[in-house]
Amino acid sequence: MSGKRRTDEGPGPVQPYENLIINVALTGMVPTKKDNPAIPMTRNEIVLDALECIDAGASMVHVHARDDQGRPSSDPERFGGIIEALRKESPDVIICATTSGRANPDLFARAAVLDLGGAARPDMASLTLSSLNFPSQASINPPESIIALAKRMRLRGIVPELEVFDSGMINAIRFLHRKGLIHPPFYCNLLLGSLFCAQATVEELAHLVSLLPEGTLWAGAGVGAAQLRMNAAAIIMGGHVRVGLEDNLWYDEDRTRPATNTMLVRRIARIAAEMGRKVASPAEARAMLLGVRS
Ligand code: ZN
Repeated sequence: MSGKRRTDEGPGPVQPYENLIINVALTGMVPTKKDNPAIPMTRNEIVLDALECIDAGASMVHVHARDDQGRPSSDPERFGGIIEALRKESPDVIICATTSGRANPDLFARAAVLDLGGAARPDMASLTLSSLNFPSQASINPPESIIALAKRMRLRGIVPELEVFDSGMINAIRFLHRKGLIHPPFYCNLLLGSLFCAQATVEELAHLVSLLPEGTLWAGAGVGAAQLRMNAAAIIMGGHVRVGLEDNLWYDEDRTRPATNTMLVRRIARIAAEMGRKVASPAEARAMLLGVRS
């Protein structure tokens, strides 16, 4: 396993920055073309958008599927079609499938994507580590669902994309590790700035990072305008980045310029370059995260 994870030392002369993994969350559950016409919804739109983002510096793609009406879908065939098509064009990119229960809390439906085989199998799958409230909706994740999803991922060799919205959710990483259900290096998105969760300040981000177990590779993410701030803080702190229209629809603070996924990824690659931080290629990200696992 190469690279530095969260340790008690920050980046410095004896511990240089590891290459920046840019995870792009393209579609999400909620936004529609009315909110932003650049949201990719169909298989072709998602694959083409992902490829542009990979060209711009993304090495990991977080995938949601939609049905023909644009509603969130947990149909494994839809996920499989996207994953296979993307893998064919970009064999090394890390593909993460959502198991979010926000649209459909049924565990069977959420876990179906984990059973895809061959080229359709996702490398990683999201695992939200507790229930929480979004501004107008709850995301229900009872302990038994989290454990069942983690078990299924372990069995299928799929690495969890651990989703953390608040400090208590970090306990779940240790809890699942103690139960033998997850193994380092952990990958964890710290998503800040949702109304009822940890707020998007550098203090909160630093606090969450300080709580992460050793061996965690983390990405800073923020909701709306907080996305850029949390991404930039993560670049400086030695973390990684989750960016994309799933979390933020606008390019600017004043909401005058709708973003596209490619614009958002390009900006991160540009900031990283200005800060002297190299961006990981898909093959490098794959080696850092999925190369050698205990
Ligand atoms: Zn998602």
